[in-house]
Amino acid sequence: MFADNYKLVLAKIDSAAKRAGRNPMDITLIAVTKSAVIEDIKLAFEQGIKDFGANRVQEEADKVRSITGARWHFIGHLQRNKVKYVLPVYSSVQTLDRISLAGELQRYAVKLDQMVRVLIQVNISGEKSKFGLPPDDLAGFLKEIRGCDRLKVQGLMTMAPFVDDPEMARPYFRQLRQLRDKNARPDLDLPELSMGMTNDFEVAVEEGATMVRIGSALFGIK
Ligand SMILES: *Cc1c(COP(=O)(O)O)cnc(C)c1O
Repeated sequence: MFADNYKLVLAKIDSAAKRAGRNPMDITLIAVTKSAVIEDIKLAFEQGIKDFGANRVQEEADKVRSITGARWHFIGHLQRNKVKYVLPVYSSVQTLDRISLAGELQRYAVKLDQMVRVLIQVNISGEKSKFGLPPDDLAGFLKEIRGCDRLKVQGLMTMAPFVDDPEMARPYFRQLRQLRDKNARPDLDLPELSMGMTNDFEVAVEEGATMVRIGSALFGIK
């Protein structure tokens, strides 16, 4: 049942935050909808979830349109030719990982006369199967996109390797936070760390996540 799942997830975020001396209110729960039916998404919204994450542009369009007042975050790999569908609908793109995509986001944002909130996806683990910038490229990337005045860079996003024991994911989350600390500037403080999924979100919260992206723990496994 969604309501029970939701309660349990909130309780776990709460206790993980407290273990780390953090305020649970500083953590945004993003409900990832890829395994959810529209009825459950509506229920989630009614019960208080305001942030949703989707990772496919077309397939998610109906889900996105099904609720007004929710914020949708794009968390899938984004191709440049899909930017035009994403920009008008999503309130952030969490998977900016290359210059060409930054350029396209900037171009469309100018065209639509809007700002785009982005998180930069970093491939901390270096796994070939994962998208994201290599950590060492972040500083150069931030410099290169400085001219993209329509991008509002809010922070970093990562996916840890899939492991049975969530403790094994901790070093990757810690490295993302340290990378942020190293690259933050007074004019670009990168407050958001989007990290942690069903398997590892408690550890991610302990390591400083400000956004956790949770699908199956809320909606079940498809
Ligand atoms: C599917 C997905 C999630 C949620 O995964 P769960 O393990 O179901 O919580 C989070 N982030 C991204 C990028 C995803 O694709």
